Amino acid sequence: MSENTLLKTDTLNRYLFDDMHARGELVQLSHSYQCIIQHHNYPPAVRILLGELLAATCLLTATLKFEGEITVQLQGDGPVGYMSVNGDNNQQMRGIAKLSQTITNENTLHQLIGKGNMVITIRPNQGEPYQGIVALEQDSLADCLAHYFEVSEQIPTKIWLFSHEQNQQVAGAFLQLLPDGDGSDENKAKQQSDFEHLTQLTNTIKAEEIFTLEAQALLYRLYHQETVSLYEPQAVTYQCGCSSDKCLAAISQVSAEEISAILTEQGKISMTCEYCLTHYDFFAEDLKSFTSKQNH
Ligand SMILES: [Zn+2]
Repeated sequence: MSENTLLKTDTLNRYLFDDMHARGELVQLSHSYQCIIQHHNYPPAVRILLGELLAATCLLTATLKFEGEITVQLQGDGPVGYMSVNGDNNQQMRGIAKLSQTITNENTLHQLIGKGNMVITIRPNQGEPYQGIVALEQDSLADCLAHYFEVSEQIPTKIWLFSHEQNQQVAGAFLQLLPDGDGSDENKAKQQSDFEHLTQLTNTIKAEEIFTLEAQALLYRLYHQETVSLYEPQAVTYQCGCSSDKCLAAISQVSAEEISAILTEQGKISMTCEYCLTHYDFFAEDLKSFTSKQNH
C-alpha cells in the first residue's frame, strides 16, 4: 500500500439492503484514531485493540435510535485491566486504555485484557441509562460484540474490525438483520439464508480495500448484486468533552472540609483528564462556593 493511496477520512456510512431486511454499516477512521492514541505512549498491541474498540463503538453508536451516548468498556485481570471508548449519536468519540502491568509479548484480546467482561452502557439524553454485560469469551473483539447482540437483543449480527498499525488507521463493518414480517418459519428461513449470503459477501473485504477505497467504491465491490440504499455519511470526530465545569461538578461532590484541607496543603486542586490529558487547576477563589458551604 503506497502512501498516496491512503484514505484520509473519518466517516461512518449506514445502508439498508432493500430486498433482504438487513442493514449494514461501514466505518473508516484515521485522524480521530490518531487523536485518541497521541501523547499516551501505548504499546503497539494496546493501540491496535483500542483502535478496534473505537471502530466497534462507532458502529454501535450508529445503531442508536435516539440522542445519547454509548460507552464500551473492557475490563479484566490482564496487563490492560481497563479499556474504554465513549461516543455519541453525533459520532464524537474518545477513548482510553489503562495498563496495570508492563506489556511484553501479549497481543491478543485475551492476553491483553485477561479474563474479563465487556460492559456496554447506553445513556439516552432523555430517559434512564441501560447497561449490558457479557463475558469476553470469544476469540476476537468483533465476535464478543456479535455475541452481545445475540444475547441482549436476539438479533443475528456480524462485525468485522480492521487495523493498520503502521498507518494508524482502523475500520469496521457491521451487518444486522431487521425484524421482518410475520415470524413464520418460511420467513425465518429466508432471513437466515439472506444473512448468510450477506455475511459471505462481507467476508471478502480485504484490509487493503477498507483502508484505501472510498465507501461507495468498496460497497459497490462487495454488494453490487444487491439493492443498497445509502444514508447520508456521518463524519466521525475526536471530541473529549471534558471541561472546567465538569471538573467543578466532580469537585462539588467532595466535602467542604476536604477541599479546604487540599487547598491549605497544595494551594490548588489539580485535575488531569485521563482521556485527553488536559490539565485543570482550581484555586481557592474558583472553589469559594464549595468551601463556603461549611460555614452554613
Ligand atoms: Zn479531556
